[in-house]
Amino acid sequence: MNLVGTQKVLVADDDTVNRQVLAELLKPEYTVLLAKNGEQALERAARHLPDLILLDVMMPDMDGYQVLRSLRADEQTANIAVIFISGLGRPEDEAIGLKMGAADYIAKPFNETVVMARVAMQLQMVRQRRMLEHLAHVDGLTELANRRRFDEVYETEWQRSRRNGRPLSLALLDIDSFKQYNDHYGHPAGDRALRAVARAVSSGLRRPADLAARYGGEEVVLLMPDTEAAQAQQVVSAICAAIAALQIQHEASSVAPMLTVSAGGATLNGTAEESCSDLFCAADTLLYQAKKAGRNRVLWRAAAADLPPQSGAQP
Ligand SMILES: [Mg+2]
Repeated sequence: MNLVGTQKVLVADDDTVNRQVLAELLKPEYTVLLAKNGEQALERAARHLPDLILLDVMMPDMDGYQVLRSLRADEQTANIAVIFISGLGRPEDEAIGLKMGAADYIAKPFNETVVMARVAMQLQMVRQRRMLEHLAHVDGLTELANRRRFDEVYETEWQRSRRNGRPLSLALLDIDSFKQYNDHYGHPAGDRALRAVARAVSSGLRRPADLAARYGGEEVVLLMPDTEAAQAQQVVSAICAAIAALQIQHEASSVAPMLTVSAGGATLNGTAEESCSDLFCAADTLLYQAKKAGRNRVLWRAAAADLPPQSGAQP
């Protein structure tokens, strides 16, 4: 996510001079994109997803109001901040623009300092909104995704897997004897251990679409779209090995002298009649079995072909 770095501003105006003036003004501080009509504005907005659009109201063919309506109708561009720039200086024109959801309205001829100040203010609000969205999706202690984020992504990925007939792998990973760890070493040490485990999990994931989320106290859920069972199991086993290799001393563990984890996983093969809660439950059951079998191990559900036919597996 782009929380830092240069912000992108798209200037859409049919007047060449206006475009140039605004571009020169903004270039020293922002990445500037230009569009000379409404159609180009929409195309560039969709392709580059700018942080802000300075949108001329009066343009031939498609005016600024129509452009804004189209932007709002497309999920991808619906939240892009728009400042109208218009020669229509009447209060009712300004009101129309703001009612349509423009963030601000600047009358022509514009004052350059005012334009820069208003652009800066909108872009600051964009940054703050992104930061809040980011915080709303992240677990504060481990900086993994939080459960809310996982629920959203899981639903989306499950649907995608069903639609495309592609595999979706899910694993639950739980620190062994973590209560004993906290009792023995104290909660601050427990938090440090959790963070170390989270880092190992994050760096063990292979693909951009893979997601690790803190699901409960010491439980992490891994979601690996488009990943076959064998491959996913390998990834999870490597993560578990990496956690053991951290050699975090755990004298109170019933398993080993260092911190270990257990994991259970399952893969949706994309064609089976299985709901997203079925898949989650399958991984959870395997995790439970891994714990029962002595902890410090990864168990994966057998491939669907090896299973007896299921019944009543509808969502
Ligand atoms: Mg114009």
